[in-house]
Amino acid sequence: MFEDHIFCETCGRKYPAGRKIFRCGRCGGSLEVIFDYGKMRRKVNLKLLRSRRFDHLRYLEFYPVKKPVSIQEGGTPLVRSSNIEHSLGLGFQLWFKNEGLNPSGSFKDRGSSIEIAKAKEFRARKVVCASTGNMGASVSAYSGLANLECYIFTPEDAVPVKLEQILGYGARLYKISGSYSQAEKLVREANRKYGVHLLGDYLYRREGTKSVGFEILDQLDFRTKDLWIVSPVGNGTLISAVWKAVKEFETLGFIKDRPKLIGVQAEGCNPVVKAFRSGVNVKPFKRARTVAVAIECGDPLDGRRVLESIRESGGFMESVSDGEILKAREMLARKEGLFAEPAGAVSLAGLLKAGKRIKKRSKVVSLVTGHGLKTPKTDIPGREIRISKDPGVLKGIFG
Ligand SMILES: [Zn+2]
Repeated sequence: MFEDHIFCETCGRKYPAGRKIFRCGRCGGSLEVIFDYGKMRRKVNLKLLRSRRFDHLRYLEFYPVKKPVSIQEGGTPLVRSSNIEHSLGLGFQLWFKNEGLNPSGSFKDRGSSIEIAKAKEFRARKVVCASTGNMGASVSAYSGLANLECYIFTPEDAVPVKLEQILGYGARLYKISGSYSQAEKLVREANRKYGVHLLGDYLYRREGTKSVGFEILDQLDFRTKDLWIVSPVGNGTLISAVWKAVKEFETLGFIKDRPKLIGVQAEGCNPVVKAFRSGVNVKPFKRARTVAVAIECGDPLDGRRVLESIRESGGFMESVSDGEILKAREMLARKEGLFAEPAGAVSLAGLLKAGKRIKKRSKVVSLVTGHGLKTPKTDIPGREIRISKDPGVLKGIFG
């Protein structure tokens, strides 16, 4: 293991590696695991990584655990666009990273693999997590693997099918009469008062989430010139994890050029976009409401980190309406064969709106974060047509 220390980016305080901590004890800021990159450089090279099977475990040395809890998450396809790239006509190559193909149907499994392994190292028996659904389902699955008792708290507008998934994997589920941010507050209290191990968008989850970034760079054979990566932003852990992955591969000399990041939020919950545009700190959003429930985080835990990552990369942010998200989702399914949940189509919605800002001959990777089967029926356009089983009905359809 190559961990060196834990660092608070807000106040600069350092903590020893491996500490059981979630936020900075001094300022409450978001924490980051820092590795001994000099030591890593001597031990880890591309030949070694590429001799391994292509999935989340290929990048083992970049994780702060001895043994990730794994069910072969990651290794998801990077698919070149079949139709949308051409119909956009903006002159860039478009790729989709299909994260819906992870074991529980979203990118969250990458983070759970590391976070649950860490909980085991800390000898936790009970774990608690606030979730709009995807993280809850993932954490529930991985807790089962690791024999941990799992408690999930969801907001009242959580999607029913995700709740079924959480229950299916065996967690205890509590739906609160309130928002995601209120569920978050409650689980932090459970940690503080009752010592239940806390899971969520904290430092160890980010370390696992990095693998989506590693994989994209790997799948593009480390040719990162004029590369853009587009990601939805909820708590902001995903896009900031992608940025950490980029910087780590750069530090180890695997890539020369840094990609630019585009962070996309829903108009009904876009506190980070507002902060990005006005140049001030992220202000919590009281009435967060969007069809992309998976990114409905009114008080984003990693908001500040998102701003820094995007600015450092030279990229930008965009907001999209619910209508634009649903239109992008329909396009993804009908033109690319990729059935995504609404949040999974947010990157494409952002590209449809702001793709003109990307110069020709660039490579653009759009993150499709979660599977369409995780969606309520109500927002799927079109309806099935009921027919009788009499062969005569075929005349009305094809005749
Ligand atoms: Zn601090």
